Amino acid sequence: MAEKARIWKPNGKSVNARKVYSKIPFYCDTDGCNAEMIIVSMGEKTAHFRSKSKQEHRFASCIRNDIEFDTDKYDKSLFNLDAFKRNILSTSEKVNIHNGAGGGGIVGTGSRIAPNTLKSIYAAYIESLSSGEDTIGNCMYSDFMRCKENYTDFISNPCGFFIVETSYYHKVKDEFAFLLNVPMYNPQTQSFHVKVNFTNRNDFWRVYNHHKKLKKAYLSIMLVASEWKAVKGNADYIAECTISKSSQHTYISLD
Ligand SMILES: [Zn+2]
Repeated sequence: MAEKARIWKPNGKSVNARKVYSKIPFYCDTDGCNAEMIIVSMGEKTAHFRSKSKQEHRFASCIRNDIEFDTDKYDKSLFNLDAFKRNILSTSEKVNIHNGAGGGGIVGTGSRIAPNTLKSIYAAYIESLSSGEDTIGNCMYSDFMRCKENYTDFISNPCGFFIVETSYYHKVKDEFAFLLNVPMYNPQTQSFHVKVNFTNRNDFWRVYNHHKKLKKAYLSIMLVASEWKAVKGNADYIAECTISKSSQHTYISLD
C-alpha cells in the first residue's frame, strides 16, 4: 500500500496515488530503486500503488513507503516517553492501552490513544519526515529513535534506551540471538551489526521462521526497543541488547 510512486521513469516525478488518473508506468518512490509499481483503485479515495514484483525492490527502506500513521486511532501529542519505556520494559506482557503506555490517554468510546506500539510510533516517525514535525508528545523523535536518518548517533554511542531500525542479517549459532544490520540494509552504505538476545525461545523461533520464509530477508525492516549497551573489541557486532517480550520487537516486510 504505497501512497507515492515516480511516474514515467525510475527517477521521474513523485506523485500521490490519489492524484493519478491514467495508467502510465510507475516506479518505486525510493531513490535508486527501479521496481515497477501498479496503481490500484485509481480515482478512488483508497487509491494506492502496489509492487508489480516485491522482489524487484533494492532496499529495506522501500517498505517505508507503505507505512501509514492511523490518526483516527492515535494522537501523537499524548505520547509520554517515560511511560512508554516503563511499559515496554516491564515484565508483564499485558498492555493497558488507556493507562499503560499513553500516560494521558482519555478513557472513553472513540477517544484516540497515544502511539503505544513500535509500529504506530514508527509510522508517526515516518510521517514526521515529510511533515517536518520533530516532536512526539513530551519529547523529540531523536531522543529515542535511531533510524536511517540518525544511525550514526547510535553507532557512536549505542548506550541507552532506543528504538533501533534494523534489518535481518543472520542467526547466531547455538544461541537464541540474531545479528541485525544498522542501518537497515542498503548496498550503498556500510553496515554495522548489533546482537539481539532473546530470553523467550518461542518468540525467538517465531522471528526466525518468519525471516527464513522470505526470499530476500534483508528487505525486511526490524524494529527493536530495548536498553542497549556498547560492545567493545568484538569484530562481529558493536552493540547488544536482550529482549524478554514480543512487544519489544516487530518486523515490517514487503506485503
Ligand atoms: Zn523500491
